[in-house]
Amino acid sequence: MPELPEVETIKRGLAKNIVGKTIADFDCDWKKMLNRPLSEYKKVLKSLKVENVKRRAKLTIINLSRDWNILVHLKLTGQLVFGSKTRCVVGGHPIKEGFDCLPNKFTHANFTFSDKSHLYFNDIRKFGWLHLLTDTELEKEIEKMKLGIEPFDKNFTLGYLKILLKRRPNMKIKQFLLDQSLISGLGNIYSDEVDFYAHVRPMRQVKTLSEKEISLIYAGIKKILAASIKAQGTTFSNYRNANGEAGAYSKQLKVYGKYGEPCPGGGKIVRVRIAGRSASYCPKCQK
Ligand SMILES: [Zn+2]
Repeated sequence: MPELPEVETIKRGLAKNIVGKTIADFDCDWKKMLNRPLSEYKKVLKSLKVENVKRRAKLTIINLSRDWNILVHLKLTGQLVFGSKTRCVVGGHPIKEGFDCLPNKFTHANFTFSDKSHLYFNDIRKFGWLHLLTDTELEKEIEKMKLGIEPFDKNFTLGYLKILLKRRPNMKIKQFLLDQSLISGLGNIYSDEVDFYAHVRPMRQVKTLSEKEISLIYAGIKKILAASIKAQGTTFSNYRNANGEAGAYSKQLKVYGKYGEPCPGGGKIVRVRIAGRSASYCPKCQK
């Protein structure tokens, strides 16, 4: 599943391409991904203008005129693809067929803009969804998810992290970083990288962390996510960045997906299971 840097990359790619466009038509062949009847989508969306594209945690929000919004969750295999006659921008998970032949059998929703360009939603496993919401409904739906603080929110300070850690003293640090109700946006990749940055083993209990380790975890969250956004995310399994290219952060990963490989510090990376998820770490560098 794309994590914060990947969804942020998708958001930026789409913002460049669809803001200012007017929707002429909408179609969908997979009703379960919608929260209203298709006929209502068609009626409401016609002639609405795209005003902004935003991100909250791993969600993409498309703000439209007249107080309407589209809230998108890509889940495991979702993909947002912008296509026009001259260019094709992809965000999410690419499909083997490539981008030339859209729409294809994995295209389940299709926005047609008045200039004949398109925004396609493709999804192989069909877990993703695309909800049409008013401003008020959007606020309520996001509130219901009980998402934790954004790592780049100005209120996410070292002091705030300490408060969160105090609330979950017995949690393992890997679990803590993955818990979307505490801090939103980190998944398996970036939680492993943050633990490596802080020289902390992922199975350590939160209450055993020293002040220095907490400071390093805090700095690591900000630095690693920022570096990954700059590199347009990490390519893992079938994710691609907003230009249909491999995210360059893969080259900067230290431990994630490197089980059995040597670590930059001379140790050998091992893998453990923590609460149903796998975590990679270096026993030499991480205490
Ligand atoms: Zn090491």
